[in-house]
Amino acid sequence: MKISKVICGVLASAMVLAFAGCGKSEKTTLVMATNAEFPPYEYRDGDKIVGIDAEIAKAVADDMGLELVIEDMAFDSIIAAVQSGKADIGVAGMTVSEDRLASVNFSDPYTTAAQVVIVKEGSAIASPADLTGKKVGVQLGTTGDIYAGDIEDASVERFNKGFEAVQSLLQDKIDAVIIDREPAKVFISENEGLIILDEEYTIEDYAIAISKDNTELLEKVNASLAKLKESGRLQEIIDKYITAE
Ligand code: GLN
Repeated sequence: MKISKVICGVLASAMVLAFAGCGKSEKTTLVMATNAEFPPYEYRDGDKIVGIDAEIAKAVADDMGLELVIEDMAFDSIIAAVQSGKADIGVAGMTVSEDRLASVNFSDPYTTAAQVVIVKEGSAIASPADLTGKKVGVQLGTTGDIYAGDIEDASVERFNKGFEAVQSLLQDKIDAVIIDREPAKVFISENEGLIILDEEYTIEDYAIAISKDNTELLEKVNASLAKLKESGRLQEIIDKYITAE
């Protein structure tokens, strides 16, 4: 009797340990790194981070049976967070670029985007070609930052947040801002006297950044994205935040 009790006890604790072990190795969260300064893709509404990317990531996490956790950080820290495993995915209106592909993998694109130029109403700058020799504001570490570096004789002012570049333009400290189209639309709607040039600077694709060490996650994210596209849910999320012109 006594011995069987002891055996039972040992077995029971072994089982508890086994389950605890399972619980630990099985991932239950999907950690998203973002920079919540980029409406309508990610921004704060009270203490919540909302927007197109937050909803797409939530839908992907739901499809994978995981709980989404959002980590807000500087835009130029996101790739490092994904590389180090601090975050599983980087979702931040992030443009697929050759440079970034050297550091991380990208999912299939989930939307097409564009870099545009914001100027003050009445500005002599009428197209991207007129940026030669001008003071151009960008958000640090973005594709806009990289493109601005290619403009002949331009001086590039780098800001931590896109809206800070817009503030600087309003104060006539710079001549133009190169930034993604949808945030540009939000920023000009909130400030008088600004326009977006008709001619885009470039067209680009946004995708989800994932560590090169985690191709299994890349495949799962692509499978979930494909389902979201197929079901129309992806478009529904985009349409909720972006009204067609
Ligand atoms: N699409 C731009 C990039 O990837 C800007 C993204 C952002 O500022 N969140 O660099």
